[in-house]
Amino acid sequence: MKEINKDILKNATILYVEDEELIRDEVEYFLSKYVKKLYTAANGEEGLKLFDEVKPDIVITDIQMPVMSGLEMIKSMNRRGLSIIVTTAYSDIDFFLEAIELKVDKFMIKPIDLSELLSTISDFLNTSSLQNRLFENEKLLDIINENVLISITDKEGVIVDVSSAFCHFVGYEKSELIGKTHSILKHEDNPDSLYRHMWDTIKAGNIFKAEIKNKCRGDKVSWSKITITPILKNGEIENYIAIRQDITNKKRLEELSIHDDMTGLYNRRFLNTMIDKELRRIKREDSTLSLLTIDVDYFKKYNDTYGHPSGDVVLSEIAKVLKSHTKRATDFAFRMGGEEFAILFSDMDIDKALEYAKHIIRSIENLKIEHKGSACSNYVTISGGLIVQSSQYLENFKDLYKYSDEALYKAKTDGKNQVVLSDKSQ
Ligand code: GH3
Ligand code: MG
Ligand code: MG
Repeated sequence: MKEINKDILKNATILYVEDEELIRDEVEYFLSKYVKKLYTAANGEEGLKLFDEVKPDIVITDIQMPVMSGLEMIKSMNRRGLSIIVTTAYSDIDFFLEAIELKVDKFMIKPIDLSELLSTISDFLNTSSLQNRLFENEKLLDIINENVLISITDKEGVIVDVSSAFCHFVGYEKSELIGKTHSILKHEDNPDSLYRHMWDTIKAGNIFKAEIKNKCRGDKVSWSKITITPILKNGEIENYIAIRQDITNKKRLEELSIHDDMTGLYNRRFLNTMIDKELRRIKREDSTLSLLTIDVDYFKKYNDTYGHPSGDVVLSEIAKVLKSHTKRATDFAFRMGGEEFAILFSDMDIDKALEYAKHIIRSIENLKIEHKGSACSNYVTISGGLIVQSSQYLENFKDLYKYSDEALYKAKTDGKNQVVLSDKSQ
């Protein structure tokens, strides 16, 4: 008898289909000592039913059986990663040929030599074929489908397939996603440059990785770490496969620590942590840095007149405007605390920066939020102090902030609802 790997046998699930009870019992008694699970059936129909339930690694079947023959049964089976052993009492050549056509792995003549049967099973389960089976195993596909966030698109970016886990993650049914592009999940906070870079990368046949914000069903926001792999066929890109990892919780934590809860703008702590890097970038790129500090006019009066909760709403409305004016990757809007804000931006000369700041001041008044207590307008307004410094004059942030604050003070004393440019700008 050949050497048998008992450990591999112990992991095997086998389905044995045989109509003769005596033979069935004998084989069952013998094999069940070695394998993990042995299921038996008395005819093809029973065998087929069990097959779907137990998904065996190996099927051993008789040919001639009532109700449904062994070969009929095999024809109806999903053969992925399956080995089939056919046993028969008839050494009939017709059966043999049909069995070969059905790609039966082994044909055994009855009476069955049990030790030969065992070593055949062991052979079929040997490491390499077991590995093949593992990857082709439908159970594994099920596990992937349920747990891995996969979406597959054609080369135009139209979704052709998605996993259940992906559907669950984004809150859409499979049928709602197929035929659409990923723009259905595109969040406007992702810079356009991200998508340009993505397409440049994958169209060139390279793998693209990034952390992106997704807009799920009902505008729910989630974050994912995405890996997009182009799939080539005959040297041409046929599909893109995107695998995502849900990093929403991690991002929420990050956001909490750099964003102001009430307005969603960056907080002062974030300004303190990012400013050095920004100053270095301006120096390196020989660019220009601008800081606009902002304070709401007559805000104490607003609270007194309309109530503190309405005051909160005003701060959020102002924040929205500031956010909508800071879309470039190098623009940042902060809530510095209370009713004070700041905008940090770069690459604009003094005239452009001043024009941009004036536009922001006007945009707030244009919100037309009634403010009866204001002495400078019928509406809520803001004042700003602007400092613009090109890289060769750029000092430390402390001074930059001081200059813009002095300019803001001047804007207030000069009548509010305006921006004043610091005379330290150059
Ligand atoms: P000025 O035009 O000179 O800037 O006068 P002001 O009344 O706006 O300035 P002041 O510094 O005297 O008052 C600021 C007010 O802003 C007082 C404070 O109650 C209010 N405030 C600060 N933070 C918040 C907030 O989060 N929500 C609300 N509703 N009010 C706030
Ligand atoms: Mg103030
Ligand atoms: Mg104020």
